[in-house]
Amino acid sequence: MNIVVCIKQVPDEPIIRIDSERMTLIREGTESTINPLDRVALEAGLHLRKHNGGQVTVLSMGPPRGEESLREALAAGADRAILLTDPAFAGSDTLATSHVLARAISRLRPFPDLLLCGMKTIDSDTGHVGPQIAEELGIPQVCGVNKINLEEDSLVVERLSDGFLDTVKVTLPALISVSRECCPVRSLPLGALEIAFSQGDVTRWGCQELGVSEEEVGLKGSATRVRRLLTPAFTRKGEIVSGSPRLLVDRLIGTLEAVGLLDEEDG
Ligand SMILES: Cc1cc2nc3c(=O)[nH]c(=O)nc-3n(C[C@H](O)[C@H](O)[C@H](O)COP(=O)(O)OP(=O)(O)OC[C@H]3O[C@@H](n4cnc5c(N)ncnc54)[C@H](O)[C@@H]3O)c2cc1C
Repeated sequence: MNIVVCIKQVPDEPIIRIDSERMTLIREGTESTINPLDRVALEAGLHLRKHNGGQVTVLSMGPPRGEESLREALAAGADRAILLTDPAFAGSDTLATSHVLARAISRLRPFPDLLLCGMKTIDSDTGHVGPQIAEELGIPQVCGVNKINLEEDSLVVERLSDGFLDTVKVTLPALISVSRECCPVRSLPLGALEIAFSQGDVTRWGCQELGVSEEEVGLKGSATRVRRLLTPAFTRKGEIVSGSPRLLVDRLIGTLEAVGLLDEEDG
């Protein structure tokens, strides 16, 4: 079974900084990590390989430093790592990102049986990329999967939607995006990290290798433009009150009446 896992490198910091001119995330000078759900997707891929054989290829689109995350994936056990990097990719929205990833996947021989993604990232958080890759490649997709079982040439997967458990059968090749519950994530052994960082091989593909023009990618190839970014203003103030239950109830009723949320007749 040939599996591709899409991995995004994301900032590993609680506060992100935005370039106010370009309206893009400032990635320089920040610590980075593999998007947590992509680690889950990788573990799920490695688990399937362990029981069914085959190869796991990890794919990431991003700046050259994305190579670190791919080396971590090699340390976790991936067989092959490909970094999609080109100055022309900078500023890509989700559609342009998916286009680059789909083009890279369509170049792989044999065409992979299974594509695994995280359900969403912790930085842009759209959940668009997986479904858009599947659409561009014309293959079926199931999102938010928390359990994967392989049955000959199809997968039977489970996902929670609106509190109900869906069981879905999907023929391969297919794209699955995973939720946190799909697979436990191991911590990486130091020795494996050392080997991956000193000897691991990361292939690089840019526009030329992918056969895409600069018009199809980056800001030029993006269907969306970020016009403005605002930090939401918090107008609500919290208030902690203490005292006897009787006093607290009176206080709460008084406050609700004062802001017009409770009529005197309601009381
Ligand atoms: C309207 C809009 C405009 C934007 N404009 C810009 C811009 O001008 N400049 C800019 O830098 N960014 C921009 N972004 C952010 C950029 O689109 C995202 O960083 C990128 O497309 C991934 O989207 P996401 O993080 O929401 O991924 P999601 O769709 O949440 O990711 C789901 C999964 O897809 C896979 N995946 C996602 N991205 C990658 C990747 N790069 N490589 C490999 N796998 C991946 C992972 O498995 C991930 O878990 C914009 C986003 C939006 C919504």
